[in-house]
Amino acid sequence: MKFNFDTAELFVPDGLPADEALARTTHLCLAAHQDDIEIMAANPILTCFQQKDKWFTGVVVTDGRGSPRDDLYKDYSDEDMRVVRFIEQKKAAFVGEYAAQVMLDYPSKMIKDGANQQAVDDFVKLLKATRPQFVYTHNLADKHDTHVGVALKVIEAVRQLPQKERPEKLYGCEVWRDLDWMTDIDKVPFDCSAHENIQMALVGVFDSQISGGKRYDLATMGRRKAHATYFASHGTDATIGLSFGMDLTPLIADPAIGPGVYVQEYIQRFAQEVADRVDKLR
Ligand SMILES: [Zn+2]
Repeated sequence: MKFNFDTAELFVPDGLPADEALARTTHLCLAAHQDDIEIMAANPILTCFQQKDKWFTGVVVTDGRGSPRDDLYKDYSDEDMRVVRFIEQKKAAFVGEYAAQVMLDYPSKMIKDGANQQAVDDFVKLLKATRPQFVYTHNLADKHDTHVGVALKVIEAVRQLPQKERPEKLYGCEVWRDLDWMTDIDKVPFDCSAHENIQMALVGVFDSQISGGKRYDLATMGRRKAHATYFASHGTDATIGLSFGMDLTPLIADPAIGPGVYVQEYIQRFAQEVADRVDKLR
């Protein structure tokens, strides 16, 4: 498969030919950086784990060159970091038994450029090759520009597909901002109770980032536990791990809806809920 950059990579953990590996995909995640997939999409990875009829494919959009570095990696050049992060992403794909792992190798600045169409074209190619039922990307209230840039390009790519080729569902997931603030009715809860050992391995292989002084592994598992307990104030916990999604499907069903207006509606429902409770109890 040919992507915009010749340096893009496609890794198939079980060695199937690339076209066949992509075609078996049922759950597709498109994320900005190496490790974002494992932070935000544990539920679909585990849903597909060891299943004959469900397959997870991961797509990492950026090149990892600008990654922070410390400890073992402190003297690494940008190119060394890119290589390390590609290897770490392949380790995760192997542990999680992904159908395929694609690395598109874009510099972040191209993703933060709303007018740039090259990544959108790559996404369209991947969506056509995978025909997934479910698609996961970043949520529109994330606070990292590159994350929101990827989400907007994913929405654009899905909108370019003929209606009958579009996925059934598109979800925005949590990395650089929890979705705990959304009203409960707006939250799409993703159960992350299964195989905590695999979940920990998936976030644990990204040593260059964790050694860089950020305990993403502990923070990610902790966030899932916190969501499981704080989701409902009455009754006992229904899960031991939970992450939240923002349903972005209406944006692909109706291209007339602007992504900015759409996310503002979530914020307004949250604002209204807070205001109503304070008014009711005064
Ligand atoms: Zn990221």
